[in-house]
Amino acid sequence: MKQATANVHVEDQFSVPPKCRGSNWGFLVTSDGVVMLDTPMVPRTAVERRSEIARKGEVRYIINTHHHVDHVTGNFFFPGPVVSHQSVREAFLAPLASVSGSERVDEAVKIGQGTIGYIRLLVGEHDPESLPLLDSEKYQIKMPSITFSERLRLYVGDHTIELIHLPGHTEGHIGVYIPEERVFFTGDNFCNGTQPSLAHCMPLEWVASLKLIESIEIDVVVPGHGEMCSLKEVAAFRRFIETCIEMTRSAIREGKSKEQAAETVSFEKLYPSDRCQMAVHPGSGMQRRNVSRLYEKLSEQ
Ligand SMILES: [Zn+2]
Repeated sequence: MKQATANVHVEDQFSVPPKCRGSNWGFLVTSDGVVMLDTPMVPRTAVERRSEIARKGEVRYIINTHHHVDHVTGNFFFPGPVVSHQSVREAFLAPLASVSGSERVDEAVKIGQGTIGYIRLLVGEHDPESLPLLDSEKYQIKMPSITFSERLRLYVGDHTIELIHLPGHTEGHIGVYIPEERVFFTGDNFCNGTQPSLAHCMPLEWVASLKLIESIEIDVVVPGHGEMCSLKEVAAFRRFIETCIEMTRSAIREGKSKEQAAETVSFEKLYPSDRCQMAVHPGSGMQRRNVSRLYEKLSEQ
């Protein structure tokens, strides 16, 4: 793990090749315990880190930036209540197929395994040696027990943790700002150097959310995927989303159907698709899904 600031530690190597074992996550050490910021997707990593983190203090809260499995699977392995946007809890309770944009989920649902089945599928693909841990630890889904709708401020020890609803990559996405450290966890609202899935996105709200992040005094940005960086990379990513919107709008103006747009438009050259997703699921149709979602949302305007 890397030390991002005096009291914030971040794992930002698991979301890039060759590791490809989930998303970024981190934790804040305060004078009165630890706050987790998303959790490791791979159970082996979670269990390894758990004892190391326990030495730094009791886990007071686990914060989830959004509901996607690469960010929340590890919740179970840590003590402390999960805090998230209200819609993240709702997504945990909804049928799995309705909250994921991937055909992989349909596979898991078809064989009747639900969310835990999907997690098994992912863990098996990314780190088969972790599968026995799901059984020995009696793995269960750990969902948020504290939720909010717009903003929530947690005070832990000498630290302030500001949770801000920032719809974009998903509707219930939040950003986490720790002013004393001048660090911001964006979740997948910002991915550094890699194109995330847009399958659940709210494109116009996303641009506004990124602009808001750009207006905050931040030294270190922790993206959902890709390496830690500064606000400069966030601005570049915001321009990427703006260009995706523009490209989709012109397809709509030209009278293309959603299918035609998905066939002819691609954002791949602007920002390469998530290389980890591509390594595990080549030809997963991510570009088609990304274009289709923007087409649907922008047609509603
Ligand atoms: Zn992610």
